[in-house]
Amino acid sequence: MVHDDAMLHKTPRLIDLRSDTVTKPTPAMREAMAQAEVGDDVFGDDPTVKALEAETAALLGKEAALYTPSGTMANQLAIRGHTEPGDEILVEANAHLYYYESGAPAVLSGVMCRCVNGQRGIFTGADVEAALRPADQHFPRTRLVCLENTHNRGGGKIWPIKQVQEVAATARQHGLLLHLDGARLWNASVATGVPEREYAAPFDTVSVCFSKGLGAPVGSALAGPRAFIEHVRRFRKMFGGGMRQAGIIAAGALFALRNHRARLADDHANAKALAAGLAAVRVLETEPADVETNMVRFCIRSLPAQQFVDRLRAEGVLVLAVGPNTIRAVTSLMVSSEDIQAAVATIARVLSQESQH
Ligand SMILES: *Cc1c(COP(=O)(O)O)cnc(C)c1O
Repeated sequence: MVHDDAMLHKTPRLIDLRSDTVTKPTPAMREAMAQAEVGDDVFGDDPTVKALEAETAALLGKEAALYTPSGTMANQLAIRGHTEPGDEILVEANAHLYYYESGAPAVLSGVMCRCVNGQRGIFTGADVEAALRPADQHFPRTRLVCLENTHNRGGGKIWPIKQVQEVAATARQHGLLLHLDGARLWNASVATGVPEREYAAPFDTVSVCFSKGLGAPVGSALAGPRAFIEHVRRFRKMFGGGMRQAGIIAAGALFALRNHRARLADDHANAKALAAGLAAVRVLETEPADVETNMVRFCIRSLPAQQFVDRLRAEGVLVLAVGPNTIRAVTSLMVSSEDIQAAVATIARVLSQESQH
């Protein structure tokens, strides 16, 4: 007998390249979560949450940090804390906190967003100056500048540290506050060797995610001055983010923070290998040199991106359509280098079937 039952019934494992949010806790992380000491965090009683907040703040070179259920909440707490209704904030046109957070700045903070057009999410001090309003009663008060590093819709693009400093210097000259959406700041640091605290230094506040490439099941944090963090703690409660025995999930985040940062280099190597493999498949337009961290973007012209995504799904490879012709693939601890080679082979096969139709 060549085929035994197990072989016949085995469904092929999915290769999930949709996002680094699909990462599941490892056995060691689950063990740390099971063992976590907990208390009611709204009463300030949860030692694991406190440990996570202290280590996050230290790593980012800030006085304090606040654990939040999501990166969206961390970003929106920063905006709420830095502004008054009617203020204006400067954001890049593809910034997550503007593009992907359900209109939250308008609803939760009552602010206007003024968009700056960047190159893959990166803009300049001159862009900030061009968007400034004169100090005049006719205009909203410009209050806050937001950057995103790495830039999600920019395809995991890293902000060069010099350019961060240049934009920050311009913002300060004009009395503006600065927030960094650092959901994937870990990736920027691993890729460049620039420590997180150095990237974070020019900013008043920084948000970071534990639930992306770091592989924790839940949570983000907002770091900044102690008084600011205490101020937005009340808004966290108001937004519904006061959690009770949150040490269970914070333990996963703490484990990720301590053990999963360095391994992001593997994800970056896998993303580069994926881009190189795709570049060899003629029909795809991809730019391997653009791959700086764990994201690969490619274009497809022979059929709509969503149709291609559906075909690939039927073959066990999951990716996301992020535009009519644009597809995104993200590497994470859920995919090995063997998976990457298998994904490239599947993509090539689906494309060649397509071209025969
Ligand atoms: C994922 C992400 C967030 C937060 O997302 P949540 O799903 O709310 O945790 C914030 N900023 C960027 C750049 C992101 O990629």
